Amino acid sequence: MLPRTRIAQVLQSGVVGDKIAVMGWVRTKRDSKGGFSFLEVNDGSCMSNLQVIAEKGLPNYESEVMKLQTGCSVRVSGTLVASPGKGQKVELKGEEIHVYGWADPDTYPLQKKRHSFEFLRTIAHLRPRTNTFGAVARVRNSLSHAIHTFFQERGFLYLHTPIITGSDCEGAGEMFRVTTFDLQNVPRTDGSVDYGKDFFGSPANLTVSGQLEAEIYALSMGDVYTFGPTFRAENSNTSRHLAEFWMVEPEMAFCDLDGDIELAKSFLKFLFRHVLSNCREDMEFFNKFIDSTAIKTLEDLVEQDFEHITYTEAVDILTRSGESFEFPVKWGTDIQSEHERYLCEKVFRKPVVLTDFPREIKAFYMKCNEDGKTVRAMDVLVPRIGEIIGGSQREDDYETLRRRIEESNLSLEAYWWYLDLRKFGSAPHAGFGLGFERLLQFVTGMANIRDVIPFPRTPGNLSF
Ligand code: ATP
Ligand code: MN
Repeated sequence: MLPRTRIAQVLQSGVVGDKIAVMGWVRTKRDSKGGFSFLEVNDGSCMSNLQVIAEKGLPNYESEVMKLQTGCSVRVSGTLVASPGKGQKVELKGEEIHVYGWADPDTYPLQKKRHSFEFLRTIAHLRPRTNTFGAVARVRNSLSHAIHTFFQERGFLYLHTPIITGSDCEGAGEMFRVTTFDLQNVPRTDGSVDYGKDFFGSPANLTVSGQLEAEIYALSMGDVYTFGPTFRAENSNTSRHLAEFWMVEPEMAFCDLDGDIELAKSFLKFLFRHVLSNCREDMEFFNKFIDSTAIKTLEDLVEQDFEHITYTEAVDILTRSGESFEFPVKWGTDIQSEHERYLCEKVFRKPVVLTDFPREIKAFYMKCNEDGKTVRAMDVLVPRIGEIIGGSQREDDYETLRRRIEESNLSLEAYWWYLDLRKFGSAPHAGFGLGFERLLQFVTGMANIRDVIPFPRTPGNLSF
């Protein structure tokens, strides 16, 4: 039996006369009057289908080939012939067609018509067989690879930070608890839960960020990055939030906020350039069916400089804009996604790097500026999405950090090791977090974050 050739490879380098076998799923079948059929076969390796011609002379033509329908899985062995149709150079003349699995057209949910993304979410086991979700999966894969390439080429060390943690990264109460307690019968001492009897002997959570652990390794290995799942139990039902999402977090020793911003910008540009040159076919699909500006947006970004303004300047622009926002803007309050989008889409028409936020609205570990009011934080905002990256220079001064932990009502004991890093060989360091799904949303033009991750987890929804 011939080994399997991927359709991507056939369409790229197959030549007339090649004897090959492909395996995949039938997208469509057309029967021609002359006693033959055309099958469009897709194997996930690329957007395009391979056209297969099946002639009446095949031993199973009437018993099987005629009965093939959308969704059936097949192996087709045969010879490549010149394709009279436009679009592809070759098609496969089937000499042997084996059916692996049937798909009853009366019950197979993916029929030729276009289904809504809402409906497709209810069949997450079948949606990767559609053009859109196939393309998302390939771009997601390609960008994952590019992320590693970017950092590895620059000498960064890939660090595995823990999924289960005993620390709450930002003191935010948005964590998923990890426990082996029988919830019907939780051990208590004097009315309060006795975590000493739980699996770890203390409270445990799913991580919301690998940053604190990445800082440990940055302060010994220099430049590190993480790329892994993070979990947030925030009850925000938006098109930009997931309860489980993937984050890329570089952390650099001997680096300040400016160096951090420089890295973030070259990182994003590298990824956009990568997608433009490596995911052409899928990007053309998104451009045609999802967002007609998708390719142009990326091409412009690779050339353009990002705008850079401080939080204080942004508040000025927003309050003077005359725009009526749902959340009013005032110095000291958080910038909401409507404001982020207004800045990128209406004011600057490009990505914006916002820096120097008020201390009160940012995490305790961000380095304080000399003004005593702001911290060396930065957010990268992009059109349509808003915040895609959040980062900062970290507080490296022991006393300042200790004060900030106390002011934030966090426990000094819990952060003893974090403080230790400022006691022994402390150094300026900085890093950021890129939300991988937000990046994918931005690149593909997909409107909802639930459609750029294979199995989305959101409040009230865990069906796959
Ligand atoms: P937002 O204000 O948009 O909720 P955040 O400020 O809480 O985000 P950070 O803690 O700075 O987010 O996390 C770094 C990056 O991770 C963000 O810039 C964003 O791209 C991504 N991110 C944060 N929360 C989520 C989420 N719930 N789902 C998907 N991506 C997220
Ligand atoms: Mn943020």
